Amino acid sequence: MTNWDALTQTLERHGFTVSRFATGREAAAYIDGKIDGKTVGMGGSITLKDLGLYELLAAHNTVHWHWSGDGQPARARDLAVGAQVYLSSVNALAETGEIINIDGTCNRVASLLYGHEEVYLVVGANKIAPDAEAALWRARNVASPKNAQRLGRKTPCAVKGDRCYDCDSPERVCGSLVTLWRKPGGIGRMEVVLVEEDLGY
Ligand code: SF4
Repeated sequence: MTNWDALTQTLERHGFTVSRFATGREAAAYIDGKIDGKTVGMGGSITLKDLGLYELLAAHNTVHWHWSGDGQPARARDLAVGAQVYLSSVNALAETGEIINIDGTCNRVASLLYGHEEVYLVVGANKIAPDAEAALWRARNVASPKNAQRLGRKTPCAVKGDRCYDCDSPERVCGSLVTLWRKPGGIGRMEVVLVEEDLGY
């Protein structure tokens, strides 16, 4: 059972702004109210997709998302890197404060490290693990295999669906592992938006 107050205090001590909502719908409305008239980049994320954040934000911002279906995903990724604001979820968040992401193309993790005025990380309850080791385990053995399955990759994790095999498959989806110990100095403001229901995987 997550101690939300303790987690909030830990993240704030690590330099992050923290907000918290009972539902994803409330979190999406909050983010929609915070970002207006900006260029916005979005990482690939089932959480963001399920919350309809592209549609909400594109109504009053210039949003670059390679999942938008405009037929130019590479261009969208390039423009997202230079956007004022960036949105992503995470693969796991430790109650001790470590924020963990695994990426294949690595556009998403690049944008969590440097260059944006603001970054929002939307984190559902299912992403939270007790400590850094458990969070890393979750990212590798839960989130990445599900991503490989979603993408239809011929990797052992996607075929068996049970864990990571640290494969050498040409279709491997895991190219990098990034752990945020503290808010990166190259990001103006980084807000962790905690949601007390499950979102994404
Ligand atoms: S390293 Fe390979 S087996 Fe492990 S999660 Fe990534 S794609 Fe799957």
